[in-house]
Amino acid sequence: MLTKTLTISAYARYRRERGLPGGAKSSVHAALLAGRISRSCPSHPRRCPAECRCGKIDPHRADLAWQRWTNPAMVRTGGAR
Ligand SMILES: [Zn+2]
Repeated sequence: MLTKTLTISAYARYRRERGLPGGAKSSVHAALLAGRISRSCPSHPRRCPAECRCGKIDPHRADLAWQRWTNPAMVRTGGAR
């Protein structure tokens, strides 16, 4: 199975089309800067540094990472009460 990697704007559109949060280019960019999701390219198969201009987003990996960050059930484990 071949996973198509997406640019920041294409990934934002992909999330918008599915009704997911982060459907704006700025949200995706912020998530990248925060390290919530990552990009890769042939020179950086695992993770591109911020200055890499050819990095693409793997939508499946990014969706999982995003879910982990935004799922309230995960965030609230071991909460204040
Ligand atoms: Zn790269």
